[in-house]
Amino acid sequence: MSELQELYQSLILDHNRSPRNFGTLEGADRHAEGYNPLCGDQVALDLKLDGDRIADIKFSGNGCAISKASASLMTTAVKGKTLAEAEVLFTGFHGMVTGSAPPADPKATLGKLAIFAGVAEFPVRVKCATLAWHALHDAMK
Ligand code: ZN
Repeated sequence: MSELQELYQSLILDHNRSPRNFGTLEGADRHAEGYNPLCGDQVALDLKLDGDRIADIKFSGNGCAISKASASLMTTAVKGKTLAEAEVLFTGFHGMVTGSAPPADPKATLGKLAIFAGVAEFPVRVKCATLAWHALHDAMK
């Protein structure tokens, strides 16, 4: 295994075992849900906004390790960001894992999320990794 693969594996395991921002938000301003029929992953998102900033975010649901870890990492990445900043992360992440428009420097654009770059090689896993992001995109509209 390469170093990046090892890092990827340990990050997925860590976030799957102890997901961050897991649960529901009382008095949430936005709510969105997503379902990936290919794998059976389900995710629900609650957002609290402060102006155009994501003041708080939580996710709940059931799914495979990749979908859960991706949702967990997504919430930590966008919490405290403005909607515009979250949109940039969504676009970069989506372009990277689908391989359609990978950022020139994924680490600079996406930080920790760049670890998911390897997902692009496993098309069947792309929907697992992007599920929570699509739900976020719906919730931001
Ligand atoms: Zn899955």
